[in-house]
Amino acid sequence: MVKAGVQWGLFGGAIENLGTKRHHDKYVSPLIDLDLLGCFAMTETGHGSDVQALETTATFDPVTDEFVIHSPTASARKDYIGGAAQHAKVAAVFAQLVTNGESYGVHCFVVPIRDADGNDLPGVTTSDCGYKGGLPGVDNGRIVFDNVRVPRENLLNRYADVDADGTYVSDIESASRRFFTMVGTWYEDESRSADRPGPRPVSPCRSRRGTRCCAASSTHRAATTRCF
Ligand SMILES: Cc1cc2nc3c(=O)[nH]c(=O)nc-3n(C[C@H](O)[C@H](O)[C@H](O)COP(=O)(O)OP(=O)(O)OC[C@H]3O[C@@H](n4cnc5c(N)ncnc54)[C@H](O)[C@@H]3O)c2cc1C
Repeated sequence: MVKAGVQWGLFGGAIENLGTKRHHDKYVSPLIDLDLLGCFAMTETGHGSDVQALETTATFDPVTDEFVIHSPTASARKDYIGGAAQHAKVAAVFAQLVTNGESYGVHCFVVPIRDADGNDLPGVTTSDCGYKGGLPGVDNGRIVFDNVRVPRENLLNRYADVDADGTYVSDIESASRRFFTMVGTWYEDESRSADRPGPRPVSPCRSRRGTRCCAASSTHRAATTRCF
């Protein structure tokens, strides 16, 4: 039951609610059919409820048109991630988006972590959280990223995007409102507005640290009522 919640509720929910058509076309069918096993990599060793302070970085490289996913410190290690110890091939990774030298806060990226045989991909190191009293059937694990490159289109870009030249665009101007919309409501099954205005360049996030927001309670709602 919990494994199903991780696969369809957390991983699938991130793809569905934070992604756009290109992600839905590529991932929804295989993840429903269990041909693509995924995990939801938000929590870090040093950051649980305070999602806004996550340390994992996703730095855009315009030369290769890729994001570089990296765990810069020990406390940036993804931790207690359901499916990460053994079965997940792909992770929905929450990380600080950096482009043109500026940070724009937490965004979600699709990051392959294992090959078809279950081996960690280059730059990815997974490990097992070990035995748990309550959920021994769930392979909760840790993930460390060492400059792992993913294509620009792996950014789940429903609420914000990065152009090929590195320009950050979003139709949500406020950094805190953008964060709450993306992270605090990621699991809600909202329908897209047909007349949503096109995204536009916005200012970088300059004051994310130490600023708590409702992501704390939303994470706990997910933890207690859905599937963790
Ligand atoms: C079995 C299990 C499976 C999990 N699976 C996943 C997973 O698949 N993916 C994933 O990303 N994470 C997963 N997690 C991690 C889980 O989301 C975190 O444990 C959770 O976000 C809380 O973080 P924390 O444990 O660091 O606690 P902390 O954030 O340190 O909180 C500790 C205590 O302080 C309280 N607290 C924290 N902030 C505030 C505040 N602002 N105001 C009032 N009280 C506050 C909390 O309610 C809690 O009681 C899993 C955890 C468990 C136990």
